[in-house]
Amino acid sequence: MTGLIVGEPDQTGALAGSGEQWTRRYTHAVMDTFGPPQRVLVRGDGVWVWDADGKRYLDLLGGIAVNVLGHAHPTLTAAVSAQLGTLGHISNFFASPTQIALAETLLDIAAAPEGSRVFFTNSGAEALEAAVKLTRRHSAASRPRLLALEGAFHGRTLGALALTHKAAYREPFEPLGSQVEFLPFGDLEALRAAFATDGDQVAALVAEPVQGEAGVRPLPDGYLAEARRLTSEHGALLVLDEVQSGIGRTGRWFAHQQSGLGGGVVPDVVTVAKALGAGFPVGALIAYGPSVAGLLGRGQHGTTFGGNPVAAAAGLATVGVIERDGLLAHVTELGEAWRTALRDLRHPLVSEVRGLGLLIGVELAAPVAAAVATRALDAGIIVNAATPTTLRLAPPYVLTSDETELFTRFLGNLPADPEELR
Ligand SMILES: *Cc1c(COP(=O)(O)O)cnc(C)c1O
Repeated sequence: MTGLIVGEPDQTGALAGSGEQWTRRYTHAVMDTFGPPQRVLVRGDGVWVWDADGKRYLDLLGGIAVNVLGHAHPTLTAAVSAQLGTLGHISNFFASPTQIALAETLLDIAAAPEGSRVFFTNSGAEALEAAVKLTRRHSAASRPRLLALEGAFHGRTLGALALTHKAAYREPFEPLGSQVEFLPFGDLEALRAAFATDGDQVAALVAEPVQGEAGVRPLPDGYLAEARRLTSEHGALLVLDEVQSGIGRTGRWFAHQQSGLGGGVVPDVVTVAKALGAGFPVGALIAYGPSVAGLLGRGQHGTTFGGNPVAAAAGLATVGVIERDGLLAHVTELGEAWRTALRDLRHPLVSEVRGLGLLIGVELAAPVAAAVATRALDAGIIVNAATPTTLRLAPPYVLTSDETELFTRFLGNLPADPEELR
């Protein structure tokens, strides 16, 4: 027995151990859904984390696009601690000033029209679940069609999973609640064709402005504008999943606010999560305008934890620091310069560098992304193989130019021959 752990880990010694010891304990106690952990991490500071053996890593994944202020940011820590020390949880029978202020802040940065409303969740998948339920209310029986895109990732709960394209994630759990039609990614002709027949039976089109899990794939310019035109014409909802791309990740508050990507498009629903709490779990659904906001009425949806004062304080602190420290402009400039530097390597293994802001996909000329990510980890850099051929970078917004160079140099030093990486 490890004993009850109370207070500081050092007081009991129960949280001491080497990476190898921890990994063994992990495999005996934690369900094997993720496979063995790559490292056991014990501490973070800014863009750096340390493992149980004291080794330091540059964190260019940021907990999968979450830790936008880096680790242990003093403002976030203070805001969460102060709120937990004042009023931690109250249920949604009651409201808190932090919850109300965060809802107002989200509507503000979303430039949502009068009558828009927010529903808070604890995760991305839960925000998508709320969106699916809202869509059902819109559809009634007359709109059975739900459209999503090939490559889409919307989460692992049953409603969100129905919208997720990857067969390995979805098929073992079918039948799911919704029958979803997947359209070829970014294909305008296919989009028009989907509405040309029975277009009035479409309840909603759900899309990520930049597909994250699929390997950082931004929708082509003009696609969202056409999606908005067609959904409006046919009375369908346009649901944008910004769980990964939202809250400054691309250099704008929301990716669909990027001029080429969707500039000017007013969606019906936007989902956010990952970056919103900068490491504290919080998600939200934003419903645009009174008719969409009214689709989920009293008693039609709920949550115990969603929008709790601590999560809301984390959200407010995150948005506040991004604004105070000018991080949107920093994300835009640093991301642009980094992509240029990565392209300028002209490394034979790198076939494309794409993305917006600090959501970057490095496409490799061979399916060796996992091997490269492992090699990076050994070299003290955390990146992620989003697909067999794509490395994903989704680092904290507080990353500096010098730190980006550590990865650029690592990539530049990789062998040109993929065989040497297998
Ligand atoms: C991560 C993600 C989700 C799921 O969020 P969870 O918090 O893991 O449930 C949904 N949509 C997109 C686009 C995501 O990247």
